[in-house]
Amino acid sequence: MTRWAFPAFAAVMMVLPLLPVPDFWITQSIYVGLYSLVALGLVLLTGVAGLTSFGQAAFVGVGAYAAAYLATQTALPPLVTLAVGIVLAVVAALVLGALTLRMSGHYLPLATIAWGLALNYTMANMEWLGKYDGILGIPAMNLFGVDLGSGRGLHPLVWAIALVAALAVLRLLDSRPGRAIRALKSGSTMAEAMGISTFRYKLTAFVIAALLAALSGWLFAHFQRSVSPSPFGINKGIEYLFMAVLGGVGQVWGAFLGSAVVRIVEDQLQVLLPRLIGTSGNFETIVFGIVLVVVLKYAPDGLWSFVGRWRPAPRRVRDWDAAEPLARRPKPARGERLLDVDAVRKQFGGLVAVNDVGFVVDAGDIVALIGPNGAGKSTTFNLITGVLALSGGAVRWRGQAIGGQPSRAIARLGISRTFQHVKMIPEMTVLENVALGGYGRTRSGVLKAMLRLDRAEERRLFAEAERQLARIGMQGQLHELAGNLPLGQQRLMEIARALATDPALLLLDEPAAGLRHHEKQALAAVLRQLKDEGMSLLLVEHDMDFVMGLADRVVVMEFGTKLMEGTPAEVQASPAVRAAYLGTEH
Ligand code: ADP
Ligand code: MG
Repeated sequence: MTRWAFPAFAAVMMVLPLLPVPDFWITQSIYVGLYSLVALGLVLLTGVAGLTSFGQAAFVGVGAYAAAYLATQTALPPLVTLAVGIVLAVVAALVLGALTLRMSGHYLPLATIAWGLALNYTMANMEWLGKYDGILGIPAMNLFGVDLGSGRGLHPLVWAIALVAALAVLRLLDSRPGRAIRALKSGSTMAEAMGISTFRYKLTAFVIAALLAALSGWLFAHFQRSVSPSPFGINKGIEYLFMAVLGGVGQVWGAFLGSAVVRIVEDQLQVLLPRLIGTSGNFETIVFGIVLVVVLKYAPDGLWSFVGRWRPAPRRVRDWDAAEPLARRPKPARGERLLDVDAVRKQFGGLVAVNDVGFVVDAGDIVALIGPNGAGKSTTFNLITGVLALSGGAVRWRGQAIGGQPSRAIARLGISRTFQHVKMIPEMTVLENVALGGYGRTRSGVLKAMLRLDRAEERRLFAEAERQLARIGMQGQLHELAGNLPLGQQRLMEIARALATDPALLLLDEPAAGLRHHEKQALAAVLRQLKDEGMSLLLVEHDMDFVMGLADRVVVMEFGTKLMEGTPAEVQASPAVRAAYLGTEH
């Protein structure tokens, strides 16, 4: 059924104007298509990437005004005015994005309101844009000799663009850059640790959303044959957001459903409410506000979740058996000095969490970092991997100082890690989560993904992800949602993800926590095998037996300071360590 749903829907939208459908419904359908384009951008930007924008209507205005101005003042063909509108919107989005996307929390939505107001104010006050009257008398669109002057003529074009855009976004979401965008909402620290520039992908989502909005504006101008500032104001920006949320935040087809519901209900309410209340006014806004609260309470995933419930979850077809393996980095020679942690220090206000701690890891070593809770082990990991900035000291990787570099740059050098508190994308499958690790070993970008020219590389990436999952005994769970796994398996999945980066040094923060006894033994076996393959390991672990059977050297920390360093036997025999670690001496 689902296989035919899209072609059937597309076919209906193409031939609808030829059927004896009243003009009114053709008009409504065009509006739904136009709104869907904008809402689609918001699904990507807000739903998937978690960046709220109230300012999309302004980008619609940029596309609409570019088309209106150029069509009335010049003889440029519509495709050129479209190109100009899109370039303007993309440049505006790049500038605004560069200024605001680094903001956190509530600043971004506020900034979007500010630029929405500013752009709208510009439209309404420029003499050459017709001020509040706007621009009238836009000629009918003529594309390749076909007159698209009437609503019936424009309908197939609007819907073809909207449906192609939806396909492009769907393809994007199922790709290397798309997974990076999907990682923005819940996993910025993790994404950066996998070598992903989260800022770059925020900007990407922002630009795509602006581009879709400008496209909608261009169509809108040719449909209305006039533009004025009011449809591009902040009210409309909120309404677009409402459509995306109502349909289902993060659901591509929810954008269409939300747009349809808003358009049709709004229209009916404009007729019905004045009759009920007895006076006219924009009462539908109040009704929408109430509806939004009800939807958020009873269907927080939006209306599409009711449709989605009946569809089987999309399952990736396993098509990568014949894929060529991804390239691997040359491994350092055994014994080479890899990591030199030199008197690193971290202060959180008055608390010295890591107090001038130093140790080294040579290629092929397994070094364990142990110590009681709060000793500063995880903070040391964060200092090495660039998640936290050093307060003092230096970290050197193969002789080069890497302190001060962002964690994505350090990851690309061949240092990978897991987190004590599992960091993953719960709504992605296990396989997709692990594929995030292979980000730095692959290249496909947004355009390749949208055109599906990335499939060969995707097969290589998924083959690698499966190989790493098989290695830790998880080949049976490839297609499960990561969020549904028990904690122990989530930890193992993180190890597979770190391995998928093809590291020279692997940092594992309490990898065995939450594992059952036989799982711990299996993990120890995997770690020994990694060592035999030339991997170097630095691990934090509480289970003494686990560490003692595995590590070449042990570094003991207490209250942020290094207590001692030695072989497992030396450490075990030390009374000071016993006192620190066990709290009492037996
Ligand atoms: P361990 O991993 O050895 O259990 P941590 O490195 O997590 O210890 O923590 C060391 C100390 O630093 C603890 O006292 C902890 O409360 C503190 N700490 C860790 N991270 C932060 C932070 N981001 N801000 C303030 N204090 C922190
Ligand atoms: Mg810790």
